[in-house]
Amino acid sequence: MTTRIGIDAGGTLTKVAYWNDENIMSFKSFLSSDFQSVKEWVESKHSSSSICLTGGRAEQLKKILLSKEDLPYVVEFDATMNGVMHQMKQEIINSSSAIIANIGTGTSIHIMHDNSHARIGGTGVGGGTLLGLGMALTGLTDYKEMIQLSLNGNRSAIDVLVSDIYKDNKLPITGSLTASNFGGVSLKNEETRTKADLIAGIQGIIGEVVATLCIQAADAHGVEDIIYIGSTLEDNILLQEIIESYTILKKKNPIFLEKHGYSGAIGALLENN
Ligand code: ADP
Ligand code: MG
Repeated sequence: MTTRIGIDAGGTLTKVAYWNDENIMSFKSFLSSDFQSVKEWVESKHSSSSICLTGGRAEQLKKILLSKEDLPYVVEFDATMNGVMHQMKQEIINSSSAIIANIGTGTSIHIMHDNSHARIGGTGVGGGTLLGLGMALTGLTDYKEMIQLSLNGNRSAIDVLVSDIYKDNKLPITGSLTASNFGGVSLKNEETRTKADLIAGIQGIIGEVVATLCIQAADAHGVEDIIYIGSTLEDNILLQEIIESYTILKKKNPIFLEKHGYSGAIGALLENN
């Protein structure tokens, strides 16, 4: 029996979607710095495999996999949109028009209308920023440890809120909004900050920058649904909460899919039939 596999080789993680022996779609991820493990996993499949690739590092992975035949490649954005649409069908989410933000190493923003889609923007603020700034400010290197720790973090000594500035004045906008991410580090210098607080503050930057761009894109295109995907959301409850609450506050509808980071891999797998 041939195992069908879709692989999305990204800047940080290589995501794999495949049909297991019971014909159930299954998932696995590897560090993109360790393509050797991807190769070993592919080779460990007892049966033969049929692979379809996507993602920015697909060519590099192809060279390591040393397949006899040339492996098919799907353009990343097409694979990702197909993966998103498949997941929406599975999870019975209806949306004919939506903004889609893929929060990967960096963040890419798209618009989807029915079956067509276009890239409309992006930002270098993404999952790589979370890991990189997290490392720079706390010395921690493990992603899971960082996001777990950030759940206990308090952003009040890190950020400046609108209500911090407009003390005793009539508020021009919602007081609980962030006026300045990390501005509190210089303006509230009597306060102490833990590693948890710092990482929570970094999550605030990422969530608020990405959500703000998406909300503005949604306004510009007259769209209400915003679908947030990418492995940066994987197990990352705090980031999901930051994005969700801000999106709702701005009267848009935030949507998260179960397999946050796997849309590209699912799209590549579905091409592979
Ligand atoms: P890309 O396609 O660019 O590799 P992903 O959608 O896979 O991007 O998201 C990568 C981000 O996911 C990382 O920058 C990090 O914030 C987060 N992440 C989730 N799980 C892990 C992990 N096990 N190791 C490292 N980063 C992880
Ligand atoms: Mg990616």
